[in-house]
Amino acid sequence: MRTMRWALASAAALWILGLPQLSIVSAAEKSAPAMSPNEALKQLMAGNRRFQTDQTTHPVLHSQKRGELVGGQSPFAVILSCSDSRVPPELIFDQGLGGLFVVRVAGNTVTRAGLESIDYAVSQLGTPLIMVLGHEGCGAVKGAVAQCGGESTAKLPEIFANICPAVNRARKAGGSRLESTAIDLNVDEQVKILEHSALFKKRVADGSLKVVGARYQLESGKVELLDGD
Ligand SMILES: [Zn+2]
Repeated sequence: MRTMRWALASAAALWILGLPQLSIVSAAEKSAPAMSPNEALKQLMAGNRRFQTDQTTHPVLHSQKRGELVGGQSPFAVILSCSDSRVPPELIFDQGLGGLFVVRVAGNTVTRAGLESIDYAVSQLGTPLIMVLGHEGCGAVKGAVAQCGGESTAKLPEIFANICPAVNRARKAGGSRLESTAIDLNVDEQVKILEHSALFKKRVADGSLKVVGARYQLESGKVELLDGD
């Protein structure tokens, strides 16, 4: 217990310093998927095409797969997505057990615990791809558009405060579709945070990890990749 408390405290301190942290997970859980970032992206988008066209397979939801996964996991993609009930990653990418490592928070922003969770997938499970997934009609972004703009974000709920940089960029960009622009820029902001994180930038630079942004359309079910700057 004491060791675990120390490990968690140590991990938190290192996060604040922006330093790579030592593993707090046993080596037995390590299992690297034999897949490149581009192959992982291809597999993810193929699953979304099946979902869009009512051809979902859910191939691995049976007891045999549960048994196979008891010994460990090697998810091929991390999805940072909104908590919105209309955007469940495993369903919209037609994936079963063990496929995706999912972090969900309203507004799909990088929180401290979320970053630590993603780091676990990347550094311990060898996951080669992170997708930040925003979506049309996001209530968290809508709330942030209404709340952001004051002098300080210190008194705002974290969900809105984390989206404010994107809302500010959207206001500067102008145009009539402020909320829609903020949704995409919020994804862009989170992608940049992850790419420049001390935890991931080395892997991004050497090509072993890719971070992509995307937007989900509610009616068509389509996930569209967003281009970075
Ligand atoms: Zn949302």
